[in-house]
Amino acid sequence: MTGALPLLRDVFGFDAFRPGQEEIVMAVAGGENVLAIMPTGGGKSLCYQLPALMRDGVTLVISPLIALMRDQVRALQEAGIAAGALTSGNTEDETAAVHEALQEGRLKLLYMAPERLASSGTVASLRRAGVSMIAVDEAHCVSQWGHDFRPDYLAIGQLRQTLDVPVSAFTATADAETRAEIVEKLFPGAEAPRQFLRGFDRPNIHLAFAVKNKPRQQIMDFAEARRGQCGIVYCSTRAKTEDLARALDAQGHSAAHYHGGMDPADRRAVEERFAREDGLIVVATVAFGMGVDKPDIRWVAHADLPKSIESYYQEIGRAGRDGGPAETLTLFGPEDIRLRRAQIDEGLAPPERRAADHARLNALLGLAEAMECRRKTLLGYFGEHEVTCGQCDLCDRPAETFDATTPVRMALSAILRTGEYFGTGHLVDILLGIETDKVKARRHDQLPTFGVGKEYNKQQWQAIFRQMMGRDLVRPDPERHGALRMTESARPILRGEEEITLRADSVKKAVSTPAVRA
Ligand code: ADP
Ligand code: ZN
Repeated sequence: MTGALPLLRDVFGFDAFRPGQEEIVMAVAGGENVLAIMPTGGGKSLCYQLPALMRDGVTLVISPLIALMRDQVRALQEAGIAAGALTSGNTEDETAAVHEALQEGRLKLLYMAPERLASSGTVASLRRAGVSMIAVDEAHCVSQWGHDFRPDYLAIGQLRQTLDVPVSAFTATADAETRAEIVEKLFPGAEAPRQFLRGFDRPNIHLAFAVKNKPRQQIMDFAEARRGQCGIVYCSTRAKTEDLARALDAQGHSAAHYHGGMDPADRRAVEERFAREDGLIVVATVAFGMGVDKPDIRWVAHADLPKSIESYYQEIGRAGRDGGPAETLTLFGPEDIRLRRAQIDEGLAPPERRAADHARLNALLGLAEAMECRRKTLLGYFGEHEVTCGQCDLCDRPAETFDATTPVRMALSAILRTGEYFGTGHLVDILLGIETDKVKARRHDQLPTFGVGKEYNKQQWQAIFRQMMGRDLVRPDPERHGALRMTESARPILRGEEEITLRADSVKKAVSTPAVRA
């Protein structure tokens, strides 16, 4: 059986599981009966698509939504997975082709509308095809009391008994009565399914972000305030893990580094030390963590911005598995944003996937620059909206904000008037009216924007640009190193149709102070 993680990365192009997905995937792949409740948009389809690839035979997916089935089949085929659909929207040729592939054992996933189950021919052909598992999307459709009731869903229970295969059922509807009805109707005569209903919140984990400002010192201070506690520091490069581990060691902490370039034996030694030893700090790349299941990790720090909001959630989620208090700190700066954008743009992924990766990075940047509760922002992204917190830096100390419409317009104007051709440094020089050689050579001292931004200093302008990047108002152009381009979402601001509020902490004060709790 191919591992879940390589498939997640190589086939689906995701770098981490979303909350809840991993446990569900493992249970489904292991052949258990499962009922999983996940919010809309939480990523249910992956929870049966990935196990389908891990298991032999074909997985039958029953869904009432024809457009969605066709979408998913197309996406799967594009990812190189043999998938087909039998729906009323098919042409005769399509139906014949799907049947043929099915009988020849070439399909991994077969999507089907529930109406099809009413035909005895369908059931016979499913039997011959070697269906090894049934996934039921929108499982609440089996509930006669709900408003989405589909009588054809009642045939699934019978089908399960006929084929004698595991069933995994998915829905976003969480009320207890619907759940009980799903169990009764889909799993008659079977062992009750394992239910996954855990919310995504990890209330014992304190969340905090800080802008990089002497980042090594920020990490050292964070570790110092937690001396003797077991923690992980994530870094974006291998060299940095070695460097930071040495620095922590020199301060009398017990620290080790870990990355994918190390000998397997050395890596295993660190993993074993980590499991055994109290108070060890592991400074690592994201290579560390897959097998790590230590319950009493008390803190996780990111010395660099993670890749996406999913990676962030997964990495901080390694802390406090025992339910005890755990703290996190994530550092970020304009360099991180540039690096992550460049990694996406220079990767080999097709354009749609790249756009999705940018969106997931934007979600993380939105969280980094959030103006209210981090937990609400984070869980809201995963579809969970009823959130209480009091356990994040912004609940501890609300962010001060200010109306940044004027400086943002100035910055946008400087970008446009210089042909979207320059990076932050040169743009700030123009706004501040500094006559550098480059400014003079390009005659940028003649621009109407030259020197209009003297109300702010250099660091403050950098903070404004960084937040503009975080809000995706501007993006570095991958073709021209570091040059900023305006995005569509900035247009209404420039045209005077929208105003914008930014966080004041890093802008109003010349230097930002990190929200580190001692
Ligand atoms: P649901 O069926 O729960 O409403 P989907 O399965 O359609 O949600 O997934 C919602 C979105 O989340 C999709 O765009 C999907 O590509 C994305 N997604 C799912 N799992 C992951 C993951 N592990 N990392 C990043 N994106 C994911
Ligand atoms: Zn909060």
